[in-house]
Amino acid sequence: MNRQAVAFIGHGSPMNMIEDNSWTQKWLELGQQLPRPRAILMISAHWFTPGLYLQTAQQPGMIYDMYGFPEEIYQIIYPSRTDKRLIDQTETLLAPVPLHLDGQRGYDHGAYSVLLRMYPEADIPVVQLSVNRQATAEQQLELGRQLAPLRESGVLIIGSGNVVHNLRAADYRPGVYYPWAEAFDQAVKDRLQQQEPSSLSNWQNLPGAAQAVPLPDHFFPLLIAAGAAGTDAQPEIFNEDLTMGSLSMTSYVWH
Ligand code: ZN
Repeated sequence: MNRQAVAFIGHGSPMNMIEDNSWTQKWLELGQQLPRPRAILMISAHWFTPGLYLQTAQQPGMIYDMYGFPEEIYQIIYPSRTDKRLIDQTETLLAPVPLHLDGQRGYDHGAYSVLLRMYPEADIPVVQLSVNRQATAEQQLELGRQLAPLRESGVLIIGSGNVVHNLRAADYRPGVYYPWAEAFDQAVKDRLQQQEPSSLSNWQNLPGAAQAVPLPDHFFPLLIAAGAAGTDAQPEIFNEDLTMGSLSMTSYVWH
C-alpha cells in the first residue's frame, strides 16, 4: 500500500460547514487528489484533554460544540465509523504513553467541518485522537513521530486547528489583520519549509507567539502533524489567508 500523506488543516469558523468558499473548495480538492486512505486518524483542536484519549465508539455520534450559529449547522451528520485495526495500531505505537480509551466520544466540529468536504460520502473510517494539553511542544512533535508508521498502512493523519487562533482579538471588518498574526504565521511557515519541524519545539520564542497562540489547543495539532511528516518532504502549503484579523487558515500537506 502506498504511503499516505499527513495534513494540517486550518478549519476556521464553523460557518465553513455551510458556506462555499476558496478554503472549502481546497478541502474538497484535497480529498480528491490524495490517494484514498484506508482510515483517517483525526487530531482535532476541539478535543483538548488532560492526558491522551482515543475515540473507540463503533459509530461515533455528533458533538455540536459551537454556539450561536444557523440552525442548519446543528442538523449536520457525519456518519462515519471506527476502525478497530487503527485503534490497535495507535495503542501499540504510542505505548508506553498512557492512552485512555473513550467509547462515548463523538466527532467534534474540528473533525467533521473538514471531513464533510474532503470525504462527503463518510465512507472512510475515522478515529479521533485527542490533543493532550499537559504535553510539551517537544512531546507533541514526538507523538507525531511515533504515529508516522501509520502512514505506511494506508492511514491518513490529519491535524485540524489553526496556526494563529485568537478569537478575543477577532476583527470582522474585511481586510483587517494584525501584524503579529502575520509574523507568527510566516515564522512557522519558514520553519516548516526549511524541513525543520523540531525547531518548532520553541514556538513560544517566535514573533507574535503570545498573541497568536493564547491557548495551544489549535496549534498543537500542527506539531503532531509536523512530527508525523518528518524531515524528508517539503510541505505543500494552501489556504494561506488570515481571516477575522487573528485567525490563520494556512494549511499544510506532506506527501
Ligand atoms: Zn476551532
